[in-house]
Amino acid sequence: MDPMQPTLTLIVPMRNEAANIGPFYDRVRSVLDPLGESWEMVCVNDGSLDATLPRLLTLRAQDPRVVVIDLSRNFGKEAALTAGLDHARGSAVIPMDADLQDPPELIPELLARWREGFEVVLAVRTSRASDSFIKRTTAHLFYRFINRLSTVPIPANAGDFRLMSREVVEALKQLPERRRFMKGLFAWVGFKTAEVSYQRPPRHAGRTNFNYWRLWNFALEGVTSFSHIPLKMSSYFGLLVSFFAFLYAIKIVVDTLVYGNPVKGYPSIMVAILFFSGVQLVAIGVIGEYLGRLYEESKQRPVYLIRKHYGPPTELT
Ligand code: UDP
Ligand code: MG
Repeated sequence: MDPMQPTLTLIVPMRNEAANIGPFYDRVRSVLDPLGESWEMVCVNDGSLDATLPRLLTLRAQDPRVVVIDLSRNFGKEAALTAGLDHARGSAVIPMDADLQDPPELIPELLARWREGFEVVLAVRTSRASDSFIKRTTAHLFYRFINRLSTVPIPANAGDFRLMSREVVEALKQLPERRRFMKGLFAWVGFKTAEVSYQRPPRHAGRTNFNYWRLWNFALEGVTSFSHIPLKMSSYFGLLVSFFAFLYAIKIVVDTLVYGNPVKGYPSIMVAILFFSGVQLVAIGVIGEYLGRLYEESKQRPVYLIRKHYGPPTELT
């Protein structure tokens, strides 16, 4: 094993987090340095438009434990995390948000559970009080929905903040998909999991990178990556409709034979046409969501591109 390998790697994806880097680093140091563990902090600059990169490089000049991976553009948090995982060298790896919503003070507890033999230690938030009402409700609905559909349970109220052992990280690196719903992939690999709980504070500085449109797409990503039940739904719905259509056909025959055949039914025909046009478009849209993703996967493009890797002191990779 590489003697320079640190015990712990923090992976920090950053998009426009210049104002948070200093406070984040200070808090991390005040927690980690007293522990006497060796650690590194892999910061992934995900196409920031502010001073995130220069700030990171200044930090790195003072402390070489700070590794900086500068992506060529904004690839999204999932890709940034993947880049971090690929470059993490620690025996234990913890992805953390740069905005101090994942409190560094929890790290000793995560490490302790890992030392007890757990390969994954989930940080579960006790309440979503720091989220808005809409975000809370939609998140709740999303987790209920996805856990109905998905074959692996995806823990609600756990984000990407968790400790993973080296084995888990190596397992994750084997997953070849390009579209990466990390929460789901983390759950998919399994391993022995413990949980610790924490209060999630509001963002330290700056604004969230996820508006509702992005969250909606994130949810779609999750559903399509972990279930193909939406594809099946249209066929079952089709069967159901055919059944009622058959009953209705009998009614028409009986009406015609028993009561004669007055010309009526324009409204019902209109309603049926409009309704089923809608249903068909939705069904095609569902197929489209999957087909589009299949197309993306088939292109085999890399998940991220690195402009420059300001690596660890002894470059071995
Ligand atoms: N992030 C990123 N790339 C993106 C969006 C977000 O690397 O395209 C990072 C961001 O800098 C932060 C973390 O992902 O460290 C979580 O983002 P944010 O706090 O905006 O999300 P929220 O906590 O509101 O869900
Ligand atoms: Mg945040």
